[in-house]
Amino acid sequence: MSLSDPVRQIVRQRPGNCCEYCLNHQDYIMGRLQVDHILPVANGGGDEIENLCLACELCNQ
Ligand SMILES: [Zn+2]
Repeated sequence: MSLSDPVRQIVRQRPGNCCEYCLNHQDYIMGRLQVDHILPVANGGGDEIENLCLACELCNQ
């Protein structure tokens, strides 16, 4: 994934550093929240902010 740091930062801060699926805060989950593509790149999704969300490891799988 080739996202720039500013883009990652925006996606991370938008939901208040919480997983956007289960809404758990970074402080309450195992591991680190990851920037995830809502529509996977393999399926034609892009790197625009609208297609990115913050997800914990469980929700990301
Ligand atoms: Zn989650």
